[in-house]
Amino acid sequence: MSKLAIEIHNLAVYYGQTPALTNVCLEVAEGDYLGIIGPNGGGKSTLLKAILGLVPVAEGSVRIYGQSPSHSRALIGYVPQFAAMDKNFPITLFEVVLTGRLRKRLTPFFRYSSQDKDITYELLARVGLADLANRQIAELSGGEFQKMLLARALALNPKILLLDEPTANVDAVSRDQIFSLLAELNKDMTIILVTHDLLAISSEVHRLACLNGKLVYHGEPEINEDIVNSLYGCPVDLIAHGVPHRVLREHKEHDQHFGPISYQGNIEHIKHNELQSYSSECGYREEKAE
Ligand code: ADP
Repeated sequence: MSKLAIEIHNLAVYYGQTPALTNVCLEVAEGDYLGIIGPNGGGKSTLLKAILGLVPVAEGSVRIYGQSPSHSRALIGYVPQFAAMDKNFPITLFEVVLTGRLRKRLTPFFRYSSQDKDITYELLARVGLADLANRQIAELSGGEFQKMLLARALALNPKILLLDEPTANVDAVSRDQIFSLLAELNKDMTIILVTHDLLAISSEVHRLACLNGKLVYHGEPEINEDIVNSLYGCPVDLIAHGVPHRVLREHKEHDQHFGPISYQGNIEHIKHNELQSYSSECGYREEKAE
């Protein structure tokens, strides 16, 4: 059995008196590629922050290769949400990626080494942005911006990569390029990708977890309507086109799951990359579902 990269037991995180996560148990094996879906406010970002040690753990534990998150920072690359970034900050793409080489806070008279700069150029080439190195980040497209964040997350050659909505604000071509890159990176690193957008889960993920305050499913990357409806708290249509990629199937007894969910929904074939989901009833409507 492969080594565990991440072990989370009975995790609870509160903001003030309000629980963001309760009773979350999750194990991620080394080399795994886990997709986590769930509605906005479902605690996905909070879970990533708990893995990074950026939010206090009220109950339970998080272990990264057996260590606490605070001792594991160097092992983890993190792509934060696009929305959380100041896109008008006067800085070039190269400089942003270069900051990923920092191991500690900046000190007076600090200088990056020539190796830091060489690695930064290599990373920009790897994500296809070498030609834009000196461009201001305000002038980048959504796809270029996300690739820049990905390059920055790779700057210290992490063993684990966490991505928060990495294809938000990204066109379909850039999304596919990002997914191809992640599949390539997954040969060397464990990946967790979270998103509220069912379209934004790469078909390459090995396993899927569904999070809405607590984990409501964790297992094979095949989900049925009941799970999705339960997760989003409202009906979500799953519409398929073309060659089936994922198969919605009846729950089998040995599948892991958490919470009171019926798995006896309709069995349908869906093509993952062209999955369209929406429900106007609860305001959950995907821009790409048009
Ligand atoms: P998601 O990433 O699934 O959209 P989040 O982890 O961002 O969910 O948020 C989970 C819940 O915690 C939400 O109700 C959100 O409003 C709340 N929350 C997140 N960050 C904070 C914060 N810094 N202070 C207070 N509440 C927060």
